[in-house]
Amino acid sequence: MYLILLGAPGAGKGTQAEFLSRKLGIAHIASGNLFRQEVAKGTSLGLLAKSYMERGALVPDEVTIKMILERLNSKNCSLGCLLDGFPRTLAQAQALDKALAGMSKVVDKVIYIKVSEEELLRRISGRWLCRNCETPYHSITSPPKTTGKCDECGGELYQRPDDTEDTVKGRLKVYFAQTLPLLDYYQAQGKLIEVDGEAGVETVTENILKALAMNKPNDKRVLSNYCVS
Ligand code: AMP
Repeated sequence: MYLILLGAPGAGKGTQAEFLSRKLGIAHIASGNLFRQEVAKGTSLGLLAKSYMERGALVPDEVTIKMILERLNSKNCSLGCLLDGFPRTLAQAQALDKALAGMSKVVDKVIYIKVSEEELLRRISGRWLCRNCETPYHSITSPPKTTGKCDECGGELYQRPDDTEDTVKGRLKVYFAQTLPLLDYYQAQGKLIEVDGEAGVETVTENILKALAMNKPNDKRVLSNYCVS
């Protein structure tokens, strides 16, 4: 079971991925989180990624594809995974298809979380992340129980340095130019599911699960988890 969450920065991919990966029992791979972990560790990959991330630009395909494919081959992805933030370019989508084909697997479904540009900007400005476990929060829509502290692990919450207004506008430009064309790519393969990302968090999760159940991916181990109740 290989699922992709597609959507602009601020569409709620991270929040939905947390719920869905738990509900479906598959690993969650978030390219942005992996890059942020490399930055925090100060590795050479982290240093390279940082120079792109702080400008709101995409990290080069070659580096990104290598990092994600290594993760895909890890043991906890043996039942499949939920990809969040990858692919973001046509080259990444094609590399993913090729790598999965080499394992006799395919991308099963692509969930597009649609949110207007105005709403994206509003959401990103209130966004907070746990420094320890990356759980996302929003000061208005999903605040932590204690200000500045993660509900899950007690870690410190912080605002991403690339969530400033100018960088966000740049990231949205990159998204419209490079990532939006992936909708046509997956639509042509009959894999695209579109959900309204402006409903409440729980409603969006329910709608995704319902849409997946109606579109029946053919992995029975995971299908049993699709019922919403
Ligand atoms: P995100 O947390 O998904 O918003 O990603 C944060 C930043 O990491 C992006 O603005 C990019 O600089 C980089 N990044 C994450 N995923 C990718 C990707 N698939 N391709 C290239 N760069 C990425």
